[in-house]
Amino acid sequence: MTKPFAIHYTIKPSKPEAHLYQVSCLIDAPDPTGQLVYLPAWIPGSYMIRDFAKNIVQLRASDSQGEVRTEKLDKQTWQCAPSSGPLQLEYEVYAWDLSVRTAHLDTRHAYYNGSSVFLAVKGKEHQPCAIDIQPPDGKQYSAWRVATTLSRRSAELYGFGHYRANDYDELIDHPVEMADFSLASFEAGGIPHDIVLSGRHRADMGRLCDDLQRICQQHIDLFDELPPMERYLFLTMVVGSGYGGLEHRSSCSLLCGRNDLPLANQSDRSDEYVTFLGLCSHEYFHTWNIKRIKPAVFMPYNLQQESYTRQLWAFEGFTSYYDDLGLVRSGLISAERYLQLLSETATRVWRGTGRLKQSAADSSFDAWTKFYKQDENAPNAIVSYYTKGAMLALALDMLIRQHTGYQQSLDDLMRRLWLDYGKPQIGVPEGQIEKIASDVAGRDLSAFFSQYLYGTDDIPLADLLATMGVSFSLRPAENMEDKGGKPATSRRPLANIGARFINNSIGAQISYVFDNSPAQNVGLSAGDVIIAIDHLKIDKAGIDKLIASYPVGNQITVHAFRRDELMVFTVSLQASEDNTCVIQLDDKADAEQLNRRRTWLKDTGQQNHNEAAAKVTVAN
Ligand code: ZN
Repeated sequence: MTKPFAIHYTIKPSKPEAHLYQVSCLIDAPDPTGQLVYLPAWIPGSYMIRDFAKNIVQLRASDSQGEVRTEKLDKQTWQCAPSSGPLQLEYEVYAWDLSVRTAHLDTRHAYYNGSSVFLAVKGKEHQPCAIDIQPPDGKQYSAWRVATTLSRRSAELYGFGHYRANDYDELIDHPVEMADFSLASFEAGGIPHDIVLSGRHRADMGRLCDDLQRICQQHIDLFDELPPMERYLFLTMVVGSGYGGLEHRSSCSLLCGRNDLPLANQSDRSDEYVTFLGLCSHEYFHTWNIKRIKPAVFMPYNLQQESYTRQLWAFEGFTSYYDDLGLVRSGLISAERYLQLLSETATRVWRGTGRLKQSAADSSFDAWTKFYKQDENAPNAIVSYYTKGAMLALALDMLIRQHTGYQQSLDDLMRRLWLDYGKPQIGVPEGQIEKIASDVAGRDLSAFFSQYLYGTDDIPLADLLATMGVSFSLRPAENMEDKGGKPATSRRPLANIGARFINNSIGAQISYVFDNSPAQNVGLSAGDVIIAIDHLKIDKAGIDKLIASYPVGNQITVHAFRRDELMVFTVSLQASEDNTCVIQLDDKADAEQLNRRRTWLKDTGQQNHNEAAAKVTVAN
């Protein structure tokens, strides 16, 4: 019997109440010397070793003669004994991680990434495979449908049944959701775009489509085209509170809080909703930047171990720059609101002294063990390649504009990357983005990169933004909730102990201690539980306000438990540092600066609420 596919996978949520998928993998012509199979250790887009194979339960192999012996060679690889004819593998996968990166299954829904459930067949990773997605047994699941951008064979759109993938890379790049979900559609770039919401919600799906349509169209316009695809899918899990996103070639997985979504009677866009739109914008921009324009070391991915690149500052940083920029450029938020978001991103960079110790290039390289494995010392030791990368993108955008007489911008750099690397599917060599940036700017930018990308100097944003009629300044935080953006309201410097706290049943537990702070100077440490200040009981709810009520320079007596030992500290309170960023429209901008600013933000001065309303169809 000949089959058009070398490998047939079947997946079924067999025991939703026990969070178990039943998976089978039929290999037509296994390696005659004994087939090797393995599961990835990490998923593209999330740079951490996660060892998905730990969730495989009871793997069995068989052929026409009966059982085939298997031996585990390492944490994720199985060696099957030589078999006669096709080899069938059967196993269960435990799925109880509610994140966009792995797999989750209960009686409400089923979600999985292929990298968590489908064994790769060594030597056959480039062969086409068939996937049969089966529904769970039971009447209570009769309303479930399937949301995925996997190519369909006989399955109907949103139906259970037969799908296909051209290779293993494609197989694991289309996450799948099965549930009784809400679905709405719009069109962008001539392609249907669907949004699926799984989980309890009361979101205004029409509103969501309308806003997403404008974001998508805006990014498509930047690159002049959407990469070839049949449809695009925003696959969203709605929970009480949560936040997460992972990009894929023609879809993205999102996790959001119920209150992040717009309600039918809500006319303005709440901060939570704008954050959600920013997340959608971010993942959609990745459709070009990282899913097609890729570091050379990711072509192909080596999913069995860490894969090092110094370029994440550009792939995540540029994407972080364009996510919120896409919101103002599509008219969903005002220029003022955009600069508030930009101030918050900048503040996240300036708040940590880690920015003076780790470069954005090194942050990219060490993503596996540092950015993705942050501990209590992270603010003092590392910088985020997302936020610092976004600031580098902003600086580059300003520099390219200045050096080219405002004829070129970072948009032109992105289009070059798309045409020269993304579209022809050529990996971007290490260091190449810097060279192209110099090319687009028409002058050598290597000094900029050695100072701010490979070095740790603070980027001179005040000078760079001034030409746009935008001001940048630093001030002390006014309270612990101060995220930046707004000008100072108080002249009095805030007294500061230099620590962050979390709730603890007996007091305020220290989560972070900042470098050279009063807390660090006396030896207060992460994990310590402060129970009294100046001999009065204190908890998490009151500690920040109490400390801020003292004059700067005052000494306070702190009682704290370290494990079970009570310790006493005398702490001299200091003034907060200037590490809160304020980026604002400059009222005194001249006509030329205003013009540049409008070109940059595509800001018409008014939000186009109803213009070009998306063609929206809503189902369920
Ligand atoms: Zn990203």
